[in-house]
Amino acid sequence: MFGLNTQCVLELEEEYRSIEDYSGPVARWCPGCGDHAILTAIQRFCRDEQLPPEKTVFVSGIGCAARFPHYMNTYGFHGLHGRALPIAEGIRLRRPDLHVFVNMGDGDCCSIGTAHWIHALRMNMNLVVMMHDNAIYGLTKKQASPTTPAGFRTNTTPRGAYLKALNPLTATLGVTNASFVAQATEWIPELLYDIIKAAYAHRGLSFIRILQRCPHFMDEHFKAIMSDPSKTLLLSHENGIQPSEQLKKIYKNQEEHDPANLHRAREIAEEIDPVPVGILYRNPEIPCYEDLRRPQIRSSADRIENMLNGAFDKFGIFPTASPAPSGGNGSSQ
Ligand code: SF4
Ligand code: MG
Repeated sequence: MFGLNTQCVLELEEEYRSIEDYSGPVARWCPGCGDHAILTAIQRFCRDEQLPPEKTVFVSGIGCAARFPHYMNTYGFHGLHGRALPIAEGIRLRRPDLHVFVNMGDGDCCSIGTAHWIHALRMNMNLVVMMHDNAIYGLTKKQASPTTPAGFRTNTTPRGAYLKALNPLTATLGVTNASFVAQATEWIPELLYDIIKAAYAHRGLSFIRILQRCPHFMDEHFKAIMSDPSKTLLLSHENGIQPSEQLKKIYKNQEEHDPANLHRAREIAEEIDPVPVGILYRNPEIPCYEDLRRPQIRSSADRIENMLNGAFDKFGIFPTASPAPSGGNGSSQ
């Protein structure tokens, strides 16, 4: 027979969620695709934070990265191309009790979804937004995206992309109210994990650009950065990410960067070689749209309870007020 304490321990053990509890079906991305590493980092993070799967939502648009919600054993919404952000904002506004994550590709975010991207940054709702940047449209078979490097041959630009690639970091840091901007690479999992953790802890829209390998169509694209650690600039600060000693031994190119310094963040964002990784900017003082718009919003459960109570009250029988004493005017002054 179990004592009370043993019973409590057993109950706690039953509630603990392992990584399998967050894992959906086997991911069907190509072998070696960087999306696998991002998925693993997120599943680890959900397990470590013990996020309730029934209170967690992953929202995506269209593209290889947008398969993400299918592989999480949480709620998910696989939306329309470029429309992940307005869907996530709608969820956030009506259900502030949910943990909302967004996964978009570079085409999804920086091309058809650009207007939503800019306005979502300005609205600064409490979301973790991950942009998987492989510099190509993978799902539609090697079409040039806004982040495809100039000169790179694609199926839509067989003579090479004509324009210089758009820089999502400088674009983001130029938007009013942008409150959290970071860059990660999926092939440094420790740092990716730490950045996701910091993004989740930030109240406001956390934008993470994740450089992501697409071995199927962009096999060479990140090879130079991956094989030469001097091509990576590790950002560290006590108010940002503090990389481990092992990481610092590998990536000797380092900068102490205070994420509160917007001017320096914009300069760092311009860097292409070496590639900066870490938190570029964070400002926790910028208000979230949901707090300005509906400061008194209650959770759905509260609203449903109130609605039901109101409906039941219609059929309740309540004692009527006693009649006013004779001679009185029946009203209070
Ligand atoms: Fe990944 Fe590229 Fe394959 Fe898409 S096409 S699953 S991005 S490797
Ligand atoms: Mg892409």
